[in-house]
Amino acid sequence: MFESLSERLGGVFDRLRGRGALGEADVRAAMREVRIALLEADVALPVVRDFVEKVTERAVGHQVIKSVTPGQQVVKIVNDALVEMLGGEEGGAAAELELGVTPPAIIMMVGLQGSGKTTTTAKLAKRLSEKERKKVLMASLDVNRPAAQEQLATLGGQVSVATLPIVAGQQPVDIARRALNAAKLQGFDVLMLDTAGRLHVDQALMEEMKAVADVSQPQEILLVVDSLTGQDAVNVAKSFSEQVPLTGVVLTRMDGDARGGAALSMRAVTGKPIKFAGVGEKLDAIEPFHPSRVAGRILGMGDVVSLVERATETIQADEAEKLAQKMAKGQFDMNDLRAQLQQMKRMGGLGALASMMPGVKKVQNAMANGQVDDRILVRMDAIIGSMTPKERTKPELLNAKRKIRVANGSGTTVQDVNRLLKMHQEMATAMKKIRKMGGLKGLGALFG
Ligand code: GDP
Repeated sequence: MFESLSERLGGVFDRLRGRGALGEADVRAAMREVRIALLEADVALPVVRDFVEKVTERAVGHQVIKSVTPGQQVVKIVNDALVEMLGGEEGGAAAELELGVTPPAIIMMVGLQGSGKTTTTAKLAKRLSEKERKKVLMASLDVNRPAAQEQLATLGGQVSVATLPIVAGQQPVDIARRALNAAKLQGFDVLMLDTAGRLHVDQALMEEMKAVADVSQPQEILLVVDSLTGQDAVNVAKSFSEQVPLTGVVLTRMDGDARGGAALSMRAVTGKPIKFAGVGEKLDAIEPFHPSRVAGRILGMGDVVSLVERATETIQADEAEKLAQKMAKGQFDMNDLRAQLQQMKRMGGLGALASMMPGVKKVQNAMANGQVDDRILVRMDAIIGSMTPKERTKPELLNAKRKIRVANGSGTTVQDVNRLLKMHQEMATAMKKIRKMGGLKGLGALFG
């Protein structure tokens, strides 16, 4: 999987990694190579463009962490952007199958002929019955292809999963109804419906799928596509997702896919998560699709990524401790707050700041009407910028008259100025408490 892309990116990073300092020009040159590597991997052009833009912006404006090289930092930024591109919202974990609360859970499998749909149905059934101890029933609704129903029955025998008895001449919707009844009556946990494939996306196929979905109300509608078809796979997924409410994609033949374009573009183009990857013909050759692991496999630089993660954590802890000391001594003034705000902006915006610091959430809510909006950081910065140096070190000097001047100077209101002052106060008080509770170890107690 991804061998050729992995090799290309590896080359780019090897050249970056040795460097002591990285200027904007270096980053841009490297990103040109990344762009070519992604295009050669057959990733959709708009996805490539977004990716390169995002990484460049983050890499150029990034704070330098002393204990790691800039090249290593770029590796980490690219890694994170890859995880995002692959669809990793929750820490890059694999998307789970949704089985609902009342059995039987219905999983409907859809896809073109030859995509590996029937094989994948059996693979998933095997996984669910062996790994999750579910009682699974499979039913083939494919009445177009001769012997499709027999094929599923044979596979069922191989993986020891029950299949719905075949009734000659029955139509897909009726088979679905019969399967549903059988699953309910016989206490199955999961019913897998293997729908008919077609050679191309056509209207009759879509209508049939909609009708089957109507009678069966599936928890999951999984589209099976062949990763070797590259951008065609993504286009097929796009057409399907516009007509039926897909819940996810299974990419087959990833074992033979050195380029990976379908996997890399799928999420961005279709909005649907890849839930599983087929990695061989054997019936256990299926893996949950784990964006962070896949990104790790593409870059092959897990060591660098965790090194940078650790360094970032250490720096955050050091800075917070320094800040806490200043606050405890009553020395935390507007200059410190400003430096802090600027640093936080670089480190991931107000979201990160709000989760780390008391008082911030309130100001954020008040100033943005509840929206997370990093422009507030700019406004807060402007407010502090409009204070005199004396006011910055002694905020208590700010009386009503001075506040009006600061508000006018920063294009904000006196209310905004008051909120900022209040936040400063709350932060100082909270940090004193943290000190009393034994430094940063007390953080959890305060916020948890
Ligand atoms: P369907 O027409 O979509 O139901 O496709 P089938 O399930 O009959 O699969 C077609 C062929 O693809 C079979 O020979 C499968 O063994 C093969 N196949 C399915 N998934 C994979 C996979 O992940 N890797 C490889 N190498 N072959 C696969």
